[in-house]
Amino acid sequence: MPELPEVEIIKKGLDDKIVGKTVSDIEIKVPKMFQGKKDDVVGAKITSIERRAKMLIINLSNKNSLLIHLKLTGQLVFDYKAGDKSKRVAGGHPSKDWVADLPNQFTHVIFKFSDGSVLYFNDLRKFGYVKVYKTGEIDEQKVLRELGPEPFSKEFSVDYLMRIFAKRPRVKIKQVLMDQTVISGVGNIYSDEALFCARISPLRLAKDVEKTELIKLVSCVREILQKGLKYEGSSENTFVNVEGKQGEMQKHFQVYQQTGKPCPECGTKIERIKIGGRSSHFCSTCQK
Ligand SMILES: [Zn+2]
Repeated sequence: MPELPEVEIIKKGLDDKIVGKTVSDIEIKVPKMFQGKKDDVVGAKITSIERRAKMLIINLSNKNSLLIHLKLTGQLVFDYKAGDKSKRVAGGHPSKDWVADLPNQFTHVIFKFSDGSVLYFNDLRKFGYVKVYKTGEIDEQKVLRELGPEPFSKEFSVDYLMRIFAKRPRVKIKQVLMDQTVISGVGNIYSDEALFCARISPLRLAKDVEKTELIKLVSCVREILQKGLKYEGSSENTFVNVEGKQGEMQKHFQVYQQTGKPCPECGTKIERIKIGGRSSHFCSTCQK
């Protein structure tokens, strides 16, 4: 699933492509993936795009907003002209739909703009969604209301984590970090990398983490996300989109998906274990 850096990169990619465009039609092929009334969107102009945690919010001139969650396999693909993929801009799950003729069987929602350009929402597994809300009411929606602070905000601090950890003493730190109600936008990739950076084992219980370690952890979470942004996110499979760009963070992973490879610090083989149903990668020598 795209995490904070990947969604931020998608937002930036779409910013100068769709802001200012007027939605002339929406084709909905899978109804559960577009929740709302088409009439609340068609005819409106896109005024801005925001990222919140791992989600995108597209604001419209008619005081409505679209909340988009790409979940595990969602992609947003923009073509300047329907049927012309030569100048395509894409973001999300890296499958070969990036370069395929669209729409195809994985295209579930199509936004058409008045200038002939199109935005395709593709999703292999159909867990992603677009939901339409009034702009003034979007922050009240449960999925946004319950989010923890953004990692670069001042609310995300050592004191904040101490309070959170005290409330979840017996939960493993990896699970606490991935909980969107604790920190917005951190998932499997960046929690593994941040814990390695802070030299804390993902198995450690929240109650056993010292304050000095939390100081390190807060700065590591930010450092790792910055790194993800710098390398334009990670692409788990090899692909090049038609602009010839791909995220390069995967070339800089220290532990994530490095199972069996030597730890860059000490040479111990990186291990992979399951925590809360998710894979966790770590060095058992460096991380205690
Ligand atoms: Zn190591």
